[in-house]
Formats: sequence, structure tokens, C-alpha cells
Amino acid sequence: MIRIGFKRILSPTAINTYLDCPHKFYLRYIKRLKTKPSIYLIRGNVVHRVLARFNQHSPQTGHSLALVQMQRTLLRDLAQEWQRSLPSLQALGLSEEQLRQFELESQLMLINFAAWKQRNPTLLVTRYEARLVSKKLGLLGIVDAIHDIGGEPIVVDYKTSRRPEITPEIERQAAIYALLYGEFFGRPLEEVWIHFLASEGDPEAIRVDDALLHYARTLVESTHQNTISEQEEDYPCTCGGRCERDFINT
Ligand SMILES: [Zn+2]
Repeated sequence: MIRIGFKRILSPTAINTYLDCPHKFYLRYIKRLKTKPSIYLIRGNVVHRVLARFNQHSPQTGHSLALVQMQRTLLRDLAQEWQRSLPSLQALGLSEEQLRQFELESQLMLINFAAWKQRNPTLLVTRYEARLVSKKLGLLGIVDAIHDIGGEPIVVDYKTSRRPEITPEIERQAAIYALLYGEFFGRPLEEVWIHFLASEGDPEAIRVDDALLHYARTLVESTHQNTISEQEEDYPCTCGGRCERDFINT
């Protein structure tokens, strides 16, 4: 079936999913199967919620926050969110010991974040969990935080992965955010910062230039082209069958 004028709304994750395996894209975005929960997914959500709350309440005036006070707030909120997620965490079938390890790791991530925040007291968060949409591009993305540094906008993405490494997937995500930001706000984005919370270091900066935006445009347009069909046979598996195990009821 060919639909004229039909444009799927894609997210950076959807585009990365298509590139990882078209069949996985089909299962998730067309058949709409539910993704199996994993410790990484739940932990990532918990830490993101804590940081969103922190960005919501932290003073925007640029005066320095006491490190201990920040850490206590973050750890208290983590304990609360962890508790709230306990039923789904316990349903994963991990041992108490393993869960405790992930909780400790998450605490360390927030301690690292507080230390970074303290080193950068004048960094203003202008928006958090900002939903950027472009009908024209058929794109939607939610960015963790937007900073304003001397009038230059910076998008920040928090990562809770263990390895602080810019993968091709992260680079594509950053490129798409940059394109979407420009379209949504009508002004170019300066940099995308990838903040690996597992590391004590500063975020990794990805500079936005014409080449990156061109790359993003190509990714978005080709994924739109390739995902017009609703037919399963148009979405071959290229991941060796791994995708089938990522969903409930497949
Ligand atoms: Zn596959």
C-alpha cells in the first residue's frame, strides 16, 4: 500500500532502531509490541526522573549550591524513585545482590553529577525534558536539558551506560537533536553534550556543523523513505534474530 502524504513521526531512537534492524523497527513501531523491561532501561528511567526533578527545582540564578546539599537531595530522590520502581525491579529476576549493585552504581552517578554541577555553578538550565517536534521533518525528540552558555544553546543528554564512549548510535542521536533543535527553535544549536554519568569527567561535546546537520537530514529522509510500508516483509531482520527476544509476546 502506498500512502501519499503520509509521514510517520520518527524519534532518534526509532531511526537508530531501524538502522540496527528493520524488523525490530517493525515490531516496535508498526506492530507496537511492548519492549521487555531490563535493568538498564528501568535504572535509566529512574536516574533520568531524579535529574529532571533536580533541574526543575535547582535555582536558575547561577549561584553556587552546596555540594553536600545537592548530593543529599539527589540521593534522597533516588531512594524514593528506586522504591517506587521496586515491583518492576524485582520482577526482573535478579538477585538482591545484583539489584544492590545497580542501586550503588546509580548513587555514584548522581554523586558525579553533583560534583560536576558544583564545578559549573553558573551553568543555567533553561529547559529540562524538553519535547521538540517538527511536522515538516516528521521528527519528535525529548531532550534531557537545554543550557544557555553566554547566549549559545547547548543540548545535554544524560547517559547511564557503564562505558563512557560515543558510539555511532549516540552520534546519530546527537545529529538528529541538532537538526530538530534548529527546526523547532528557528536558530542553530551550538553543541550537543553527552553527559556520561558513570564517569567523573565533564560531558563530551559534539560540535554542530553543516556536515553533522547534513548527515542528520540524510538519516531522517532515508528512514522516512524506508518506513512508508506497513507490511512485515518490507522489514527484514538484519540482527540475526536478536530483535525477536526484545519484546513481550513475540
Ligand atoms: Zn532483527
